[in-house]
Amino acid sequence: ISFEQLGLSTDLLRAISEQGYTNPTPIQQQAIPIILKGFDVMGGAQTGTGKTAGFTLPMLQKLESHANSSTSPAKHPTRALILVPTRELAIQVYESVRAYGKYVALKSAVIYGGVNIDVQIAAIRSGVEILVATPGRLLDHLQQKNLILSKIEILILDEADRMLDMGFLPDIKQIIQMLPDQRQNLMFSATFSEEIKKLAGKILKSPILIEV
Ligand code: AMP
Repeated sequence: ISFEQLGLSTDLLRAISEQGYTNPTPIQQQAIPIILKGFDVMGGAQTGTGKTAGFTLPMLQKLESHANSSTSPAKHPTRALILVPTRELAIQVYESVRAYGKYVALKSAVIYGGVNIDVQIAAIRSGVEILVATPGRLLDHLQQKNLILSKIEILILDEADRMLDMGFLPDIKQIIQMLPDQRQNLMFSATFSEEIKKLAGKILKSPILIEV
């Protein structure tokens, strides 16, 4: 099966071919059509399986399919939120969003802790449609009212097990309370503990389980 057959737009196919990818990986084959259809997903996948493109590509396509071309920040609310456990993963996922979204007119930003918060404020205030963030620093920004998440259409939790291991559960719960009820939820985890299942039960609505 090819990327074309998965129903991806020409903007995305062009970026994919520039990355040198010829065929979708198993998780991409399974996840992309399901996410494009709007289902919630619980994905069991290790790093190295291509899971990042597996959620980033359909996310970009869904956002692109009803984008607007206004330059006003008010017209560019944050529509997708990707939560990740660490700064390293945040940067890596952000770079994937940039690479796969090269021909898609959507603004993205990354925020993580351990660096000066003021530098990140300017980036978010200019209007960011896709935000990659670690939970703790995102919560700091939300408490400072540097951004609002009331227009989120897609929530993605990447490496959810590691986020729980790092003690981010209370932060994640607080963040989720600030999101609109109507949204698509994707959760990825390498392991399935009782805690992960409990979190999935809270966040996901009739999820489709994908395991590779
Ligand atoms: P991930 O599991 O998302 O961390 O991705 C692991 C690596 O696989 C990354 O370096 C990606 O650039 C690469 N990758 C993702 N999808 C594909 C694909 N369809 N073909 C070849 N490489 C890929």
